[in-house]
Amino acid sequence: MHTEMLSAWTGEHELKTAAIERAAELLRAGETVAIPTETVYGLAANAFDETAVAKIFAAKGRPQDNPLIVHIAAFETLGELVTEVPQGAKRLADAFWPGPLTMILPKSGKISHAVSAGLSTVAVRMPKHPVARAVIEAAGLPLAAPSANLSGSPSPTNAKYVWDDLHGRVPLILDGGSAQVGVESTVITLADVVPRVLRPGGVTVEQLREVLGEVEVDDAVLHQLKAGVRAASPGMKYKHYAPRAEITIVEGTLAAFCAYVQDKDAFVLCFSGEENLFAHAVAYGKAHDGEAQAARLFDALRELDEQGAKTVYARCPDKTGVGLAVYNRLIRAAAFRLVRAPQPAEGTRQS
Ligand code: AMP
Ligand code: MG
Repeated sequence: MHTEMLSAWTGEHELKTAAIERAAELLRAGETVAIPTETVYGLAANAFDETAVAKIFAAKGRPQDNPLIVHIAAFETLGELVTEVPQGAKRLADAFWPGPLTMILPKSGKISHAVSAGLSTVAVRMPKHPVARAVIEAAGLPLAAPSANLSGSPSPTNAKYVWDDLHGRVPLILDGGSAQVGVESTVITLADVVPRVLRPGGVTVEQLREVLGEVEVDDAVLHQLKAGVRAASPGMKYKHYAPRAEITIVEGTLAAFCAYVQDKDAFVLCFSGEENLFAHAVAYGKAHDGEAQAARLFDALRELDEQGAKTVYARCPDKTGVGLAVYNRLIRAAAFRLVRAPQPAEGTRQS
């Protein structure tokens, strides 16, 4: 298949109408289009067209049991997709939509088996990115869209990475520049008695609690699921976001990290400002700055592959705020390899 790449902007603030229209036309005709959103790039198709949705799974090589998020541009559309809009959903939408929050609710009859992967619920998000919104509005359709990467590889934060993964597999990639958030949306289910975060993202657990009060965090956010346990969010069970390099997260202070990493040929995934301490380093944002780390993480993982890294030791992010989303992605990229480095004795010199 020939893949077209079109810029979605004419200038810094002006959308290119012809590119948006081309995307809308393909989507209405049942094709897939890769579009920028503020989280990561998405691979979109008409959420009401099962054949179109099947093309997303085929292009990505995505397992059939991993459901898709439906993207809308107006709150009223939510009513068509779910059986009921609870108070909590209204409050969350007022606080965080448009933005990086996905809500899970019992699905209406309009949501096909293909979109929800056989679950009785549907995931819905209203993106903030002007290009995503313009495409949804021009197509006049809700768009099912997972991240626009090959299944298993890191989510793409720019059009070049979408091209690397999907050229020849999709008819159009809209280039809208770099994604700002850098990790996928926060996913919260409102389909159980207590709201529960299934995947952390740009909207933090702390922010959700301010709006809803009690919010649980699913076990799968921080831990590997035990064999035989069903994942509430099917996407969390796959080895995910993984570069080719083998990553180990090393918890502890910078001094403990340096003392632990003795292999001079290994690559280090460090915090910004620490690069000069190591022979081969890729930085992913400043320490304790979850937002900066989220914006850099997936690019840094792809850069490690581009530089031929085989073994990588990673500095461990905080697990608070947006840092929880960073940790959740990194621990999966590391296939749950995590070690705690002991603090070196006083007076030990660092090289
Ligand atoms: P992606 O957009 O590729 O990052 O994937 C969407 C994420 O949302 C995956 O982790 C899915 O498992 C999750 N998801 C989508 N729909 C549902 C649903 N109905 N219930 C639980 N998780 C869902
Ligand atoms: Mg994905």
